[in-house]
Amino acid sequence: MRAIYIQSHGQPDSVVVGVQDAPEPGPGQVRVRVVAAAFNHVDLYMRESGKGITHELPLILGVDGAGHVETAGAGVERWQAGDRVVLYPSKVCGHCEFCRKGEQMLCLKCKVLGEHVDGAFAEYVVVDEDMLFTLPESIGFEAAAVLPTAYLTAWRMVMTQARVKPTETVLLHGIGGGVALASLQMVELAGGRAIVTSGQDDKLEKARIYGAAATVNYRDDEVVDAVMQFTGGRGVDVVIDNVGEATWGASLRSVRRGGRIVTCGATTGGFPAADLQRVFIRQIKIFGSTLGTHDEFRALIAAVAEGQLEPVIDRVYEFDAAPEALQNLDQAGQFGKLVLSVGSATH
Ligand SMILES: [Zn+2]
Repeated sequence: MRAIYIQSHGQPDSVVVGVQDAPEPGPGQVRVRVVAAAFNHVDLYMRESGKGITHELPLILGVDGAGHVETAGAGVERWQAGDRVVLYPSKVCGHCEFCRKGEQMLCLKCKVLGEHVDGAFAEYVVVDEDMLFTLPESIGFEAAAVLPTAYLTAWRMVMTQARVKPTETVLLHGIGGGVALASLQMVELAGGRAIVTSGQDDKLEKARIYGAAATVNYRDDEVVDAVMQFTGGRGVDVVIDNVGEATWGASLRSVRRGGRIVTCGATTGGFPAADLQRVFIRQIKIFGSTLGTHDEFRALIAAVAEGQLEPVIDRVYEFDAAPEALQNLDQAGQFGKLVLSVGSATH
């Protein structure tokens, strides 16, 4: 089968568009014919080093995918050939302390597609049957492919961790990226008011179309000053920070007393100054967040199916163009998600 995989780390030709053996489903597993997949920053991380993530080379990339059930392994009764499905990106054990509480992304044995095990950038991917979620007819495969990482992560941060309430103000850094833009849409859904930042004016203009109440070009304006001006000197109720070292100081200084900061990424580095006095004196609540639970994924799919929010796709790449897509992701020129077209939908 055709597949996009890494055969080494840190080289220009580390990512290969080539051929790998199609995987066979074992008991309790399902083979999915992938129609669309989506790119994420972790693909770049795996290409560069994959440090700290146990994996073997070659590794097929791709955390996110959607398609049709093709073959069900022994003992699988819930799924039949042709079913439209979207993949929950993590293989979980189902019986550890966290799985029993329904907090699947904290599973002690979790293995993420395209990180620990072969992912969705291939004609076929084999997953455990409980990683499949029914894809309603009203959601296209390309839209579905962006839900498992960016939109699920945003959903958990805004709806479950920060619990943004109507009229609350939320600061979002770097609005062109998939998670930040998904978070903006979630804030809108929750009735909050978003202040967004970017270094590019065209992205800020587009963010206004998606409901941003205020925009800051961080190359022109000091983000904290702009936040204080917008909020009458009070600060925002919530900050969603998926940037890390470059923005963490501004996040701490932008949030109101007793406010919440949610962190889900550290693309600019993971060790900013902690400023603990500010954290405890002002009683700032800090939440770590990544992906979401099965229940949250179900709620997200339902919200999209009902038309409450529509995923933003910047561009769909043909299969052979995957290395180019990764370069574009690295250069952060996108507004919304980058999608990989893998196969054609049969219905
Ligand atoms: Zn578990």
